[in-house]
Amino acid sequence: MKPSLARTVAEVRARIREARQGGRTVGLVPTMGALHEGHGSLIRAARAETGFVVVSVFVNPMQFGPNEDLARYPRRLEQDIDLCGREGAALVFAPALGEMYPAGFRSLVEVTGLQDQFCGAARPGHFRGVTTVVLKLFNMVQPDVAYFGQKDAQQAQIIMQMTADLNLPLRVRVCPIVREADGLAMSSRNEYLSPSQRRQATVLSRALREAQELIGAGEEDASVVRSLMASRVRAAPDAQLDYAEIVDAETLKPVDRLAGEALLLLAVRFGATRLIDNLRLTIPAPGSRNPRE
Ligand code: AMP
Repeated sequence: MKPSLARTVAEVRARIREARQGGRTVGLVPTMGALHEGHGSLIRAARAETGFVVVSVFVNPMQFGPNEDLARYPRRLEQDIDLCGREGAALVFAPALGEMYPAGFRSLVEVTGLQDQFCGAARPGHFRGVTTVVLKLFNMVQPDVAYFGQKDAQQAQIIMQMTADLNLPLRVRVCPIVREADGLAMSSRNEYLSPSQRRQATVLSRALREAQELIGAGEEDASVVRSLMASRVRAAPDAQLDYAEIVDAETLKPVDRLAGEALLLLAVRFGATRLIDNLRLTIPAPGSRNPRE
């Protein structure tokens, strides 16, 4: 069924009120549109757990840097609404810029200690933009559960931290990365890639897999695994490595020895297109190796 479309906070609140009066719980899937199967998986997860699923579609200028792709970010609301309908969402919330940030808007949300490294270093102010818009969406929709993708691992960690720190009355679910058949993590930005860049872009997931194998074979030194990932990426002729890191999955602090919950992170540029990917591993104590995803 075609979901309804809300453009204003007042419309969203009216629809949510009705749903709640009908005894339904509310799931929220925040997106920037140009929806693909990765977003579809979040909507399906929300459908499985909540009775009324809202998908927000808003290309948030606050999370783009001055030289980033805000102007050319793909926008196709009609197709997005169709996908939301096929996946069973009840409502698409696509606010105009002035609805989200009315004249005079001045407040910002910061999650200190997690927002300035990795993607935050490459994109200053990016996560402040994300947390600000996500907190606003949480307040507008007031969901019981909000759904995010592991694809944006740092973002997911920051949002969980914000939710805990600010006592937000909702649960955050983080869903697995959905990949193309050749391993490339799905992203609205993949369509920027030239055919040759697209072929080379599998280097991210291949580097992560090789790193996993090396850890599985007993490597405990994170710098060795980091170097392997970096050298694999550099072997692709048009790839520019932004970072290859191994961090503690919760604190996002780089680790020296591999043990416990680790997150392998990669960011790579192909021309003007920046791709990210990651792999979360549970690494057993030395002696009983075989890292689990
Ligand atoms: P975006 O529209 O790119 O801002 O993404 C909206 C949500 O979809 C975020 O929580 C992303 O982490 C999630 N997402 C994007 N791509 C994928 C993917 N390939 N697999 C799983 N989740 C994804």
